[in-house]
Amino acid sequence: MSFQSYPTQKRVIEFLQTAIRQDRVAHGYLFYGPKGTYKREMALEFAKAINCEQSQLDPCDECLTCKQIQSGNHPDVLVIEPDGNVIKMEQIKQLQHRFRYQSAEGMTRVVILDSADQMRMETANTLLKFLEEPISPMLAILITEQEKSIVQTVRSRCQMVRFVEPSWLEQAKMWQAHGIDPPMNYVLAQCSQEFEQFEMDSEELERIFRHVIDWSQLLVSKQSIAIIAIQEPWFQELIQKKQVTLILDFLMIWLRYVSRLAIGMADENMADFIQQGSTQAKRTTQSVCAKMMEQVMITRKLVARPELSNQSLIEQFVIRLQKDAPSDWTKLGYN
Ligand SMILES: [Zn+2]
Repeated sequence: MSFQSYPTQKRVIEFLQTAIRQDRVAHGYLFYGPKGTYKREMALEFAKAINCEQSQLDPCDECLTCKQIQSGNHPDVLVIEPDGNVIKMEQIKQLQHRFRYQSAEGMTRVVILDSADQMRMETANTLLKFLEEPISPMLAILITEQEKSIVQTVRSRCQMVRFVEPSWLEQAKMWQAHGIDPPMNYVLAQCSQEFEQFEMDSEELERIFRHVIDWSQLLVSKQSIAIIAIQEPWFQELIQKKQVTLILDFLMIWLRYVSRLAIGMADENMADFIQQGSTQAKRTTQSVCAKMMEQVMITRKLVARPELSNQSLIEQFVIRLQKDAPSDWTKLGYN
């Protein structure tokens, strides 16, 4: 990885590189913006760029420093994230202990605080005090989705760096930069998945997507084997890996595609699937598609809850579609 792997955050990259070029790197940064905008990845790239042994503006990714930072093993780069729901005072004390001696020559220490809004005032003050009296050059990068939850004393000491949500096409380019080829980069761009959540190549993703297409045809035609498909190895594998959300996201994208095809709106980026899409569009109606999409959305919310069994949620989903049950799941105890 390097800065170039994140083409959707060009503006942020330029801002950070200008700071390096002009030798005006601040002591504190607050990276804020919605989920899925690669704030943590960019913080690591910044830590690498500042300390890279070979390059100055974009990390080389080959020197020992870059490799150690990337793998989380560099002694002078530390990522802190909430222990449970909160960043504890104890974690800041450990940071102070770890950085009690000078760093290696020429090295700028970097502390990355992920979910920095999960920090109490007292903890934040201790951290600030430590950052203001560093033994060696040091920089802190705070990361949050809710910048207003960061206490004012902390915010006022940081340079604010806003991350914006990339467009659909930018997101597709990003997936391609990470090795996912068309058409699956376009499919993933419409998903809520982030690339660190799974390691699959384009072929594997396409195989799953095609399984989901076949499954959706069984669902649409209300065939009873739709429920048996859940027992197939590809489905079970994803349930085991707790990646049912990927199946539901794929199903949602597929249904959206089919319902657009039905009204003559073909998406060129999905041309590989047009034959199956058109066939399904002819066999179904907009209201069936809409009803399925509604059920996918409800199930998608429920599978995120760890106490519910994904297997039985998916089974309930199929049964409800086949019975034309109302969309209210509360009678089943899912509320
Ligand atoms: Zn390097």
